[in-house]
Amino acid sequence: MNTKLDIKGTISPFNAITKLFEHPNTICYPSVKKEIPKGYRGFHTNTLTDCIGCANCQDVCMNEAIDMIPIEEDKNPKNSSGCIPRIDYGRCCWCSLCTDVCPPSSLKLEEDCIWANDNSNNFLYMPKDK
Ligand code: SF4
Ligand code: SF4
Repeated sequence: MNTKLDIKGTISPFNAITKLFEHPNTICYPSVKKEIPKGYRGFHTNTLTDCIGCANCQDVCMNEAIDMIPIEEDKNPKNSSGCIPRIDYGRCCWCSLCTDVCPPSSLKLEEDCIWANDNSNNFLYMPKDK
């Protein structure tokens, strides 16, 4: 049996105390928020006065993250289907293909991106009208 004292192994755990005096690598969210870089792909927005309800965004989405939902208030007489896209953030990978194929460029991604919730139904998102 090896009875030699492992000095290094005994002292090492106390090194953790020195970390108390170091600058933390984490931030105290939500009171402190990280600056989001310009051009970051966050939540979708949809200008409802421009959206024509064509469903191109739904068709191109390889993750099937878009459903077309009947519109409550008609903001664009040219919206022939009477529907607008709803995004499932449980599926979306923020590839932005849906914004690329939007004929009137009404669908966009904004930089706002922080969302935490324990109800999966709350990840079905109606893009803000901007
Ligand atoms: S960003 Fe990509 S994955 Fe997300 S809804 Fe648009 S096409 Fe689908
Ligand atoms: S957001 Fe754009 S692509 Fe999607 S239905 Fe509206 S107009 Fe068509």
